[in-house]
Amino acid sequence: MNFQNKKPLTTGFLESVNLMYDRAVDLLDLPGDVAQTIKACNSTYEVQFSVRLRGKLHSFKGYRSVHSEHMEPAKGGIRYSIEVNKDEVEALAALMTYKCALVEAPFGGSKGGLIIDPTEWEDHEMEKITRRFAYELIKRDLINPSQNVPAPDMGTGEREMAWMADEYRRMNPTDMNACACVTGKPLNAGGIAGRTEATGRGVQYALQEFFRHADDVKAAGFDGSLDGKRVVVQGLGNVGYHAAKFLSEEDGSKIVGVVERDGAVFNPKGIDVEALKAHLVARQPLSSFPGVEFVEDGSLGLEYDCDILIPAACESVITYSNAHKVKARLIIEAANGPITADANDILVERGHTIIPDLFANAGGVTVSYFEWAKNISHIRFGRMQRRQEEARSRAFLEQLEAVLPNGVDPALKKKLECGAGEIDLVRSGLDDTMRAAYVAMREVRESHPNCPDMRTAAYMVAVRRIVGVMDHFTM
Ligand code: GLU
Repeated sequence: MNFQNKKPLTTGFLESVNLMYDRAVDLLDLPGDVAQTIKACNSTYEVQFSVRLRGKLHSFKGYRSVHSEHMEPAKGGIRYSIEVNKDEVEALAALMTYKCALVEAPFGGSKGGLIIDPTEWEDHEMEKITRRFAYELIKRDLINPSQNVPAPDMGTGEREMAWMADEYRRMNPTDMNACACVTGKPLNAGGIAGRTEATGRGVQYALQEFFRHADDVKAAGFDGSLDGKRVVVQGLGNVGYHAAKFLSEEDGSKIVGVVERDGAVFNPKGIDVEALKAHLVARQPLSSFPGVEFVEDGSLGLEYDCDILIPAACESVITYSNAHKVKARLIIEAANGPITADANDILVERGHTIIPDLFANAGGVTVSYFEWAKNISHIRFGRMQRRQEEARSRAFLEQLEAVLPNGVDPALKKKLECGAGEIDLVRSGLDDTMRAAYVAMREVRESHPNCPDMRTAAYMVAVRRIVGVMDHFTM
């Protein structure tokens, strides 16, 4: 089939998300107008504000969209980019609704954005702009521990979250849960261990779970494990970097290509992810990174011969015009919406396996959930039981050493001797979440004769859960 002659199905990001939703809903027997109620975005707040900078007033436009409130608070990141627009924010908010339901994070879906190029402003200017944007959202309960809890997204990180949390605290000095008003904060400002790398870690756990299911692995044309698999990562930002780092350092995968804004680099023998990241952080051009083949046209990276492709940058990078050129058998959507609905069809038709965004990048919001729970419970995870666990293990080991002629293997002893700290519990909770969500998607895909792929299954699981919550509503 000549896919180049296919007409694009969709024009916008939101339309693409809605189309994927509709397909899943068509396979569910939903009562009345429930499907439409879930799909509709509840509200989008658009704000214009001015900040005095460099001696004059500068105007900024921002959004906070609340897609669903069947569970509260609504949850989702705030993005800083010049490409932010209403369609994008609403599409991302909808994805948050479905993502949270899929991984059983007890939240509605929300998303925010500010139209800004953060590289144009000094740090103290960014702080002023962020605090002002936060003030506008706090005034309307669009930042609030029990109503709406933002988090980092593209262009924002723990620095912005700390400013926002501080602004909320100043405006609500008597709220004892103030700290829970945003997640992704620095550790010393109420954050949680493992949040920064959580989305990348989630991508790793998602792939590990995929490789635990021999028939899925076989259907994708693979055998074995992640060890030795050739991976291309598009975007070496927070998510792409951590996914590439963990896969290469812990699972034996080979990062054979990295795509960035200014081109792509390849090395079939593997790229040193740490060295490349350090090179980019030092603001060196990709083209000057040694020991790799460089191409200026980054889109070629998406078409590079590899086993696993990880789009980890932004939406709509694999479209109907380049989907037929993708060679990777397995594509895992670390970004939100990197494959458009029509590109999805082409890829599925050509036998590629897609691990969908709803699931693949849910590590971020999962660990955000742990952070929020930590904040409202006012106690660090592991604080009560860690030393007690250690004492119990030590007593057990002493007995064991006394009866075993060669004692206990030192590596095992070291493992058993230490109780779980916050980072161990966060990783365990994230791993458990990713495994459970994968199994839930798989069950639906297997049991539903017309379910074509994992994405549709993910939406079906999410929608069923949302309907389950709505069943208890009286109004
Ligand atoms: N921005 C991230 C996402 O798209 C994290 C959201 C959150 O932690 O609330 O999933």
